[in-house]
Amino acid sequence: MTNKKEHDKFVKEFIERKPTRCSKCRGRIRYIGAGRYECFDCGHEEIDDFGKVKAFIDENGSAPAIIISECTGVPEEIINGMLRQGRLEIPEGSNVYIKCEKCGCSIRYGRFCPDCIRNRTNSLKGVFFNPDIGEKPHHEAPQQQDGKMHFLNFDRFK
Ligand SMILES: [Zn+2]
Ligand SMILES: [Zn+2]
Repeated sequence: MTNKKEHDKFVKEFIERKPTRCSKCRGRIRYIGAGRYECFDCGHEEIDDFGKVKAFIDENGSAPAIIISECTGVPEEIINGMLRQGRLEIPEGSNVYIKCEKCGCSIRYGRFCPDCIRNRTNSLKGVFFNPDIGEKPHHEAPQQQDGKMHFLNFDRFK
């Protein structure tokens, strides 16, 4: 499935760009949440692409990926990748959306709209949850951050 390839490429790029050492003292850093890391030695805070984009959206509201990219220095593909993989969710009521890959209607995360997901799910009997589609597993409560943005499965990147 091409999505697997896309996903792997995104994860690889994302991980390559993640901070691994403190930029001040080269000390070890630990993940403290929301795309931020803290140095064990000097306490300096590092921030990864996700953290940069999240901070930007928290401060300025949503914006087209190209604008976020210009303001944060995070490549547009990485921003789109985070949206596609459901790691970033476009805030409700925003006029910025990504498109359903099947019918082209507007969605806030993932790859397909709820209708297309339903059709797909019906045709894939027995598949309870397919990670390729934008549906969220119900047992996994999204972390609510200030009510307008969720991020999911971020631990996968640790
Ligand atoms: Zn340090
Ligand atoms: Zn659709």
